[in-house]
Amino acid sequence: MKLSKTSSNTQHFYQEELKKLKEAGNLRTLPEVIHDGKWVLSGEQRMLNLSSNDYLGLATDTALRDEFLGSADNRDLLFSSSSSRLLTGNFHIYTQLERLLADLFGTESALTFGSGYHMNSGILPAITDSRTLILADKLVHASIIDGILLSSGYSIRYRHHDYRILETLIQKYHKNYSRIIIVTESVFSMDGDVTPLQTLVELKNKYPNVYLYVDEAHGIGVRGAHGLGVAEEQGCIKDIDFLCGTFGKALGSIGAYVVCRERIRNYLVNKVRPFIFTTALPPVNIAWTKFLLERLSQWDDRRQWLAEASSRLRTCIREMGCECTSESQIVPLTLGASEKAIEKAAEMQRKGFYVLPVRPPTVPEGTSRLRFSLTAAITPEEISRLIQTLKETQNK
Ligand SMILES: *Cc1c(COP(=O)(O)O)cnc(C)c1O
Repeated sequence: MKLSKTSSNTQHFYQEELKKLKEAGNLRTLPEVIHDGKWVLSGEQRMLNLSSNDYLGLATDTALRDEFLGSADNRDLLFSSSSSRLLTGNFHIYTQLERLLADLFGTESALTFGSGYHMNSGILPAITDSRTLILADKLVHASIIDGILLSSGYSIRYRHHDYRILETLIQKYHKNYSRIIIVTESVFSMDGDVTPLQTLVELKNKYPNVYLYVDEAHGIGVRGAHGLGVAEEQGCIKDIDFLCGTFGKALGSIGAYVVCRERIRNYLVNKVRPFIFTTALPPVNIAWTKFLLERLSQWDDRRQWLAEASSRLRTCIREMGCECTSESQIVPLTLGASEKAIEKAAEMQRKGFYVLPVRPPTVPEGTSRLRFSLTAAITPEEISRLIQTLKETQNK
């Protein structure tokens, strides 16, 4: 039968693709692990979770969760919003959260999204047309790349952190386009290096039609005097046109936000498809995010300890002779070939540290790595043991 023949060809295609991935050491499977606070259990093995984005240890803080559940308004303890926000999903807690965000950042307004992926893949197509040029850092996150692919504007990816090239591109093209949007992350998700946002602000201020879009997924909660991110740390919150971040990492929740001008917010509400055509996050999640954001400035001790622990790990990796451009809690140990990263990760796991290999296409070919993602829940003894283990297993 024709139909079954087609379907067997298709099956064959998928099988072949999986085989190729496996041969390149890039086949991915879903890890089966059981969570126990900052630990993960797999089989007999109990490992310290060094792959979580719970940077302040808020997601695993059960005392905090109990306080939230004890104090929350019953009307917010709903596990579904049952609709898009443009229909009946716009519960009052959403307005409260967005007001809080705007107040914290001192901006006119804020808008939340179901996730960082929705945010990036939705905003970029919405704010661009065929007369827009997007200039994005080469290493931006997949959600930003997908946003670029969905937009009708032109785009150029500039060499990572190379602002000379960026300025050359702006000089060359700013007259040909009605708008140029510079897109970057503040803390880069795979290398942990930090963007000098001030430099970008100075650059964009030289041109009337250049805008700045910053994703603080790994900066929010962790950096700045009140935990508002790298933009707060570098004193340029108000100079960024689209200041974005997620709630799923340091903020121990789910969702994402942009803080921006009121006019931009109203535009986004009308144009961002992953905002319009999706069920709003459940009110209980929004209430939890608000509960944590209200307390964010109190956790300076956690931020300071995280910075200290990260600095110790970075020093260790440099002492091992590895190049490491990280300036944050994301600390890669670059090993090159995927197989090497897989082997090293397995070895670290046997020694009680749950660290995962990161391989292409997440990172460029030949830069497979272990990606340590530290949280403030790690103790001084644990970080020392991690460093000792890394040194003992080097070149084995
Ligand atoms: C994790 C991440 C996202 C996606 O956020 P989610 O809320 O997990 O969908 C977006 N941008 C960057 C830079 C990220 O690291």
